[in-house]
Amino acid sequence: MSIEIKSPEQLRLMRRAGLVVAEGLRAMEEFADVGVTTAEIDAVGRDVLAAAGARSSFLNYGAEYGTGFPGVACISVNDELVHAIPGDRVLGDGDVVSVDFGAIVQGWHGDAARTFIVGSPRPIDVDLVDATRGALWAGIGAVRSGGRVNDISKAIEDHVSGLPRRYGTLREYTGHGIGSQMHMEPDVPNFARRRPTPKLEVGMALAIEPMLTLGLHQTSVCEDDWTVVSRDGSRGAHWEHTVAITPTGLWVMTAFDGGEAELAARDLPFGALSD
Ligand code: MG
Repeated sequence: MSIEIKSPEQLRLMRRAGLVVAEGLRAMEEFADVGVTTAEIDAVGRDVLAAAGARSSFLNYGAEYGTGFPGVACISVNDELVHAIPGDRVLGDGDVVSVDFGAIVQGWHGDAARTFIVGSPRPIDVDLVDATRGALWAGIGAVRSGGRVNDISKAIEDHVSGLPRRYGTLREYTGHGIGSQMHMEPDVPNFARRRPTPKLEVGMALAIEPMLTLGLHQTSVCEDDWTVVSRDGSRGAHWEHTVAITPTGLWVMTAFDGGEAELAARDLPFGALSD
């Protein structure tokens, strides 16, 4: 088992992919509204990829095993937690919308997700979204060269268990290594494990992606072979960034600012590589 180590030049290409992902998510969130379909949101993501000359990490994903994913974004609404196929579903008032989006630039991938609410939000859903975003940054804050994957998992688990409300944390779906492919070693679970986990080193890149529900963690896959829903019907949220370890710190590839502001707020070294 080996984890791909990227050169500085390869990380710069991943940053370019990450910025396309950031722009796609920004544009899709801005476009999304009550009355819009998820297919229309996906089309905005396609336009961003085309304008950037980037390819989709998601389109046709999994075709060698069955039904390839037909969109460029997974757009999951309410009790759809992840991997929902964009289609004719019309967004309604207060819907919780998770968008997961990936881009490839010169063979290098970026992958990120965010959750937002259209129309008038329920306060409990706002808390869910904040909890999940907080869990993501807690996980990012635990990434360091010489540390372990489990440090990230434990930081996410500790963050979630320290919140005033209980949330379900998905267990069958995890973060992952990323680089020349979207899904690579190592797995990055959102809960701590009691066994040795891989060591983190400069040149590694990880997609960290907590997925929380307002209820239990159990999920089912729908008949379309893709859409993952909560078994108890509870709503979920999903936040994700692609994060690289550089010689000088962390570089959040899929954040416009490279993660500089959030890392500074946590007293963590910002490690962007200059061109
Ligand atoms: Mg991912």
